[in-house]
Amino acid sequence: MYKPLTIAIDGHSSTGKSTLAKQLAMELSYVYVDSGAMYRAVALYALRNGWVSKEHGCQDDAIIEAIKGLIITFEIDSTGKNNTYLNGECIEEQIRTMEVSNVVSHVAKLVPVRRRLVALQQAMGQQGGVVMDGRDIGTVVFPDAELKIFMTASDMIRAQRRKSELDSSGQEHSVMEVLQNLKSRDKADMERSDSPLVAADDAKILDNSAISRPAQFDVVLKWIKETSKKLL
Ligand code: C5P
Repeated sequence: MYKPLTIAIDGHSSTGKSTLAKQLAMELSYVYVDSGAMYRAVALYALRNGWVSKEHGCQDDAIIEAIKGLIITFEIDSTGKNNTYLNGECIEEQIRTMEVSNVVSHVAKLVPVRRRLVALQQAMGQQGGVVMDGRDIGTVVFPDAELKIFMTASDMIRAQRRKSELDSSGQEHSVMEVLQNLKSRDKADMERSDSPLVAADDAKILDNSAISRPAQFDVVLKWIKETSKKLL
């Protein structure tokens, strides 16, 4: 019997991290944690309170104070979909808008926000048997994860994938606008001083620009088998 693993999936925006993580969690009966949804939840809360705006600047102190009291949870609904809750309200749709995408990397730069969310993420994954995706999972949240994957893909492929997702939820944005958002989030995520987006030294790099989803899944299942055998 294989030991339940901690699988950390990091990488650039819109590389299909969540899709892969959900597939793996389903296949292995592991817990899935979408850490990006937690940063998006804080960004939504800040937007609703008018604390982040291009016109009026950002009220970081208010965000930092509020983070202490925010309750962010996940629940799986009857269709098997993983939904994010903020203080008991389902906010799964609201956190997937461009408005939130445009401010989330600012909120994610705030050190007290990261400290609080990292502690929650560590608690959610403490039993093992978890797949968590994000930007700092293999480097900060679970530096001892048995399997670390770093995902990337070409800019245009990522933008087109993200645009299709937005289109299918009825949000119309040009591919250039989406591309701009992805690039600026990657830049902010890679350049921040606390927990920047970087591949862990022991991460397996997965560039999925030219590989189908089923083929990618097979590659990762092979990595999981190899990792599990080494731990026997
Ligand atoms: O994964 P997703 O694209 O939903 O993440 C949204 C944003 O949240 C990222 O662009 C990044 O700024 C932030 N994030 C982070 N650390 C994580 C997960 C997400 O800083 N572990």
